[in-house]
Amino acid sequence: MRALNSQTTGSTEPPGRRSLVFLGSNPLSVAENACRGCVMNEVEPMLSDLLAPVYDDGTITVRQDAEWPVPGFMVVAVRPHLGALDQMDLALVHRLATVTRCVRRAMRQELELAAVQTYQEDKVDRPHYHSWMLPLWPGEMARHAINPRIYESNIAQYLGLFQLREYEARVRACAQLIAEHLDKSDELRTISD
Ligand SMILES: [Zn+2]
Repeated sequence: MRALNSQTTGSTEPPGRRSLVFLGSNPLSVAENACRGCVMNEVEPMLSDLLAPVYDDGTITVRQDAEWPVPGFMVVAVRPHLGALDQMDLALVHRLATVTRCVRRAMRQELELAAVQTYQEDKVDRPHYHSWMLPLWPGEMARHAINPRIYESNIAQYLGLFQLREYEARVRACAQLIAEHLDKSDELRTISD
């Protein structure tokens, strides 16, 4: 989530370059003005299998968030460099809504999540559409007094509770359950035909 993490190591990159961090993968040096969404398309084979799509119709992808190892934290994105819903044709917007709905249902039925927060942040520079579907895991929320309401939120603290070392197996298990659910979905078969 770029809003809550610089996505850069802030380190030793030469002028005109920046370093992008991807879950379970080595940091990647890219041109400073490169679009993160487009970079992901290009470097996909080099990324950790943690970031393999759980759904991919060639245009819409769903996968684990590329930075935060919150189990079941799914990102619904488009491969083409399209910024916002109003810049897509209506058929794609409908497909995105259908995919998002199926992911939400998978999270409810397979992960037993009563609450999921969905964010779509328009970046000012080079926006590349994606929406975040963040599970609110009740145990972690309660143990750390996390308040997810937008005006009073300490959700950044929540994201930081999940370290890959500790949660990798759960990240994989959740992604697998969601992938299997989506694979069986008649609705998704209908829209990809
Ligand atoms: Zn892009």
